[in-house]
Amino acid sequence: MLELKNIKKTYHTGDFYQHALKDFSLKFRKNEFVAILGPSGSGKTTLLNIIGGLDRYDSGDLIINNKSTKKFKDTEWDAYRNNCIGFIFQNYNLISHITVLENIEMGMTLSGVSAKKKRKKALELLERVGLREHAHKRPNQLSGGQMQRIAIARALANDPDIILADEPTGALDSKISKQIMELIKEIAKEKLVIMVTHNKEIAEEYASRIVTMQDGSITNDNHPLENEKDDGDFHIKKTSMSFLTALNLSFNNIKTKKGRTALTAFAASIGIIGIALILSLSNGFKIEIDNFEKDSLSEAPIIISEQAMAMDEEMMVSMQKDIQSRKKYPKKEQIYVQDDVLETMMHTNNITNEYIDYLKELDKEDISGISYQKTTNFNIISRSKDDHYELVSTLNMMIPWTLLPTSTDGKTMDIVTNNYDVIAGKIQPEKPGLILQVDSRNQIYQSTLKQLGLSGKKVDFDDILNQELKVVFNDDYYQEMGSYFVPSTDLEGLYQNENSMTIKVQAIIRGKEGKEIITSGSGIAYTNALTEKVIEKNKDSKIVKAQQEEDFNILTHQLFDDKDLTNTKETILGYLGAETTPSAIYIYPKNFESKDDILKHLDHYNKGKEEKDQIQYTDMASMISSLSGNIMDAITIVLIAFSSISLVVSSIMIGIITYISVLERTKEIGILRSLGARKKDVKRVFMAEAFIVGIFSGVLGIVIARILVIPTNHIIENLSELPNVAKMNPIHAIILVMISIILTMIGGFIPARVASNKDPVESLRTE
Ligand code: ADP
Ligand code: MG
Repeated sequence: MLELKNIKKTYHTGDFYQHALKDFSLKFRKNEFVAILGPSGSGKTTLLNIIGGLDRYDSGDLIINNKSTKKFKDTEWDAYRNNCIGFIFQNYNLISHITVLENIEMGMTLSGVSAKKKRKKALELLERVGLREHAHKRPNQLSGGQMQRIAIARALANDPDIILADEPTGALDSKISKQIMELIKEIAKEKLVIMVTHNKEIAEEYASRIVTMQDGSITNDNHPLENEKDDGDFHIKKTSMSFLTALNLSFNNIKTKKGRTALTAFAASIGIIGIALILSLSNGFKIEIDNFEKDSLSEAPIIISEQAMAMDEEMMVSMQKDIQSRKKYPKKEQIYVQDDVLETMMHTNNITNEYIDYLKELDKEDISGISYQKTTNFNIISRSKDDHYELVSTLNMMIPWTLLPTSTDGKTMDIVTNNYDVIAGKIQPEKPGLILQVDSRNQIYQSTLKQLGLSGKKVDFDDILNQELKVVFNDDYYQEMGSYFVPSTDLEGLYQNENSMTIKVQAIIRGKEGKEIITSGSGIAYTNALTEKVIEKNKDSKIVKAQQEEDFNILTHQLFDDKDLTNTKETILGYLGAETTPSAIYIYPKNFESKDDILKHLDHYNKGKEEKDQIQYTDMASMISSLSGNIMDAITIVLIAFSSISLVVSSIMIGIITYISVLERTKEIGILRSLGARKKDVKRVFMAEAFIVGIFSGVLGIVIARILVIPTNHIIENLSELPNVAKMNPIHAIILVMISIILTMIGGFIPARVASNKDPVESLRTE
């Protein structure tokens, strides 16, 4: 049952009110062919749109199945349009970018009919309207009459009980009109057909009832209902469009404008390309740095020295403050006193025997060596070819002698053999002796050569290995004079003294190729055995014993000062060769993992101890790596921030493009709504479009970035000789595609909302 009760519909444009329907009442039978006849502008289309649920009445009521529609919800109207109503329009209103078959299927698609059933039904309908062979054409490849047949087939697809036709033959010539009218008449045998026309002959020839109207009111009804029995209900069931349908619809639409979509996606992908490239580079560099550190820095020692620099954030902050405060210098003519640098930035490690015992608990598996450096002075005398004797300064400020790393089992350590080539002689760590390091061009400094008592521009390896130096012990070197001890000046006598110990350069070493960063430079190293021998000989010497008794420096008579680390009793005793705790300890980890264990052990010592009793270590490797890591992170973040701007731009662009698409597809929106699509479904169509563009631009961006990685790596290889630095992390790629999708969906959201809120009647009116 369908009944209009006192329906009023008024349009107002500006101050002008157009009463399209004035208090319109009409009742329909369940099965009849009604022609609504009236001049143009009399309100016929308005009436049809209200019956079809495309437009809403202002007042009155539309009764469907004895039920008022006053409180109908949007979804109820949608369902009603979808499976109760079939629309046939004057201008056909077919969706141009999908096939004839898909047009017919659309209404069924919206009500969730299975693909197979849909296809079968659509082909049946095509057969019925006589266009079976045109199934896979697009609407614009057909004539007007053929298009109207397709529209009729579409109107019948969901087996609606009511067919609404708005001047179906209005755009067709009389011969074709006849065929179409025969088809509609045929349909009218089993349905309620309401056809609007201004053609009186057609109405009279085909319709079973003619309602004439003028200015929004009925002027005549040739077959009204009079006390007729209710002849049954119409069927209404809910509709829904799946996201897949929306995707398919948008995909087909996008296919019709490939060029534009490709350009859009490309433009949108630029941000993704930028970020992907930056991430590849920083990712690659990080891997490179990690490998480099694992390779070389892992063997670098952890150093515990008497003076540890507190290279921590505090220091950075104070530097930062200093830079900032430069903006406002103090105005007063005064000087301000602050804590000593030594006290704020230096930490004094009191290396005790207890600590050395603690270090013995270190897992032997973790360390490849541990060296205890002492400040013991060596009194070494050299003799030149022309019998010139000289006291060698081993604490030379420019090129100090260094302690050869000592392995736990007294053998030559891996860190030495891994990083240096022995080019002459043999390293014998168990013997007191020297090792000469030359640079990559076999060069050493003149002063180094002089320390060995040699001279000249070129020296043969053999001359160096054969050169004998003498270590003089305290009791021969220092002479007691009253309360003073004075070094002997008879260098020749000391050199010839039978108590003196002969030492030689055991080996000449040179940094291996590729290890320049930790092996560059030249100089002299000494074996731990040399220190041990000197201490063994000197620890009970007269001068050491005398020094142990006195509270002033026995060589200079200067009073000790606990604040000046170069002038404490400990320091002087160490210098003279007394047995003291080491001034520095070098711990050589086996590898990266064992280093962590060692550091854990060292940190554990400090737990619960007061600041002054803590022992702080310097881990050069981690300092370098954290510095480089931080710099890489900072650069990466800055670059990504810049590229993100292009991402924002591209999502705005997608928004605009989607909006243009909404404008272009307004008609389609109207058609979809007339077929029963919900607002939600329309939104889905455009979100689907944004989704497709998002995936496409994301993937495109990743592919282009992946391609650009190749020339980028070539350039880097040319500049730095590092091959294949840039590496794309697959996780980054996936995340970036997702970001692209999310951004385009955000960009498409507002236009999609605009689309879904469009008035279907207005939409259908657009061309
Ligand atoms: P018909 O289909 O009989 O030619 P319509 O139902 O299309 O008539 O229009 C009825 C009247 O309402 C006409 O005067 C028309 O100008 C007016 N009208 C229809 N739609 C609108 C609208 N959206 N805004 C303003 N006036 C409208
Ligand atoms: Mg009209």
